[in-house]
Amino acid sequence: MDVVNPATGARVETYDDHDEDDVEAALDRSEQAFKDWQTRPLREREQLLANAAEVLRENKQEYAETMTREMGKPISQAVGEVEKCAWVCEHYAEHASAYLEADHHPSPPGSEVKTEHEPLGTVLAVMPWNFPLWQVFRFAAPYLTAGNVGILKHASNVPGCALAIEEVFQKAGYPDDVFQSLLIPSDLVDNLLTDSRVRAATLTGSGPAGRAVAANAGDQLKKTVLELGGSDPFVVLDDADLSAAAETGAWARNLNGGQSCIAAKRFIVHTDVYDEFLGSLTDEMDSLVVGDPANEETDIGPQAREDLMETLHEQVTASVEAGATLVTGGEPLDREGAFYPPTILTDPPEGCPVDTEETFGPVATVYEVDDEESAITKANDTPFGLGASVWTQDRDRGERVASRIDAGCVYVNQLVKSDPRVPFGGVKDSGYGRELSEAGIKEFVNRKTVWIE
Ligand code: NDP
Repeated sequence: MDVVNPATGARVETYDDHDEDDVEAALDRSEQAFKDWQTRPLREREQLLANAAEVLRENKQEYAETMTREMGKPISQAVGEVEKCAWVCEHYAEHASAYLEADHHPSPPGSEVKTEHEPLGTVLAVMPWNFPLWQVFRFAAPYLTAGNVGILKHASNVPGCALAIEEVFQKAGYPDDVFQSLLIPSDLVDNLLTDSRVRAATLTGSGPAGRAVAANAGDQLKKTVLELGGSDPFVVLDDADLSAAAETGAWARNLNGGQSCIAAKRFIVHTDVYDEFLGSLTDEMDSLVVGDPANEETDIGPQAREDLMETLHEQVTASVEAGATLVTGGEPLDREGAFYPPTILTDPPEGCPVDTEETFGPVATVYEVDDEESAITKANDTPFGLGASVWTQDRDRGERVASRIDAGCVYVNQLVKSDPRVPFGGVKDSGYGRELSEAGIKEFVNRKTVWIE
């Protein structure tokens, strides 16, 4: 696997792939590791996870630099990502016991009826490059602590991150093979899914990848959790705090170079405040610093891969050709590396790429709507249903609008974010199942009812 630094286009490292024999051996080791790991006291597994948090905090600069080199994340955001990984480890180290406590049910006198939460075995995780540490810790922290063992197939452009994560668990003192990274191309994923030693799978990534994994796992009667793309609406109502909405909206669109499933992608703005909001959003987007991701001052680094930037640019040009208006940006930067500027398109014709597809980069699409009802209709006019953000100074109104948006989460006067304490996931084409919180740790357990007479 060649690692290409997207800021320069230069090949910086090459890793040897694992082959089919390596996959076979990893599955064997995983099965052996599970036999012991599932019997360890939960308290011990929590302690190891707390150790992992420490390892992350102690080495945060090194891990952050690996992300920056491999996929171009601005270094300040990369450090923040490592810290967030430590947070999710600390969260489950503290709360896993309570989350996994047996549920006791009403039962006839003299009997005891409870549901216990037992691990399933090896869970396969197919993960993307955009938050190369966070997406993995989001699955590994709860699932390993529940007593499962994990095999990671990470995206092919971030092998250094995949190995760094394996190293975190080794340094934290985990038994061998409880967590393994396999450097394999996606066409070897089927071998894993069809193997009886893999009991469940989780995937974060695009719709096509999700469908492929879910179809195969379904055929094998294996449970999956899918966290797929989004085209989140960012609804600005006529009574919104416009400067806060514009500042947060620009950040919500451009965080991680716009390469986030929960980025604000479609801005739906009430006609009474449209001009003022668009002006402020444009100023905010234009003020973001695009440049070397290794520089602390950089807000937007390169896109993670040249081909991804080309796809993004095709979406923009096809939408402009279809009649959308380009307000700012819209051309790759004239410099080495896959740099794309913050871009705003308004009045996209129905059905053009930025209207219907996920835009995975710093491209905001802005719609003008006549009233609240039209805003809700437009917000739901998408195959996706991951997150949504609603802006109004009337909290009751915000709650009312939130209840009518088809999404896994709605944030009022706040950008959409994932947080270890609350469930995270989507509906419609954004996937199914939940990660994080109590809901997340219970996705891959056997809820086993035990009736004792
Ligand atoms: P993919 O969805 O193709 O990649 C995500 C992961 O899935 C990678 O590990 C990839 O491996 C693997 N994968 C891909 N195809 C299959 C398959 N058929 N069977 C099993 N595993 C598979 O994302 P891309 O990197 O190609 O990005 C394309 C688009 O996907 C982006 O522009 C964006 O729209 C969306 N995306 C969404 C993400 C999200 O967080 N929702 C994250 C990343 C991308 P490999 O790298 O080896 O191909």
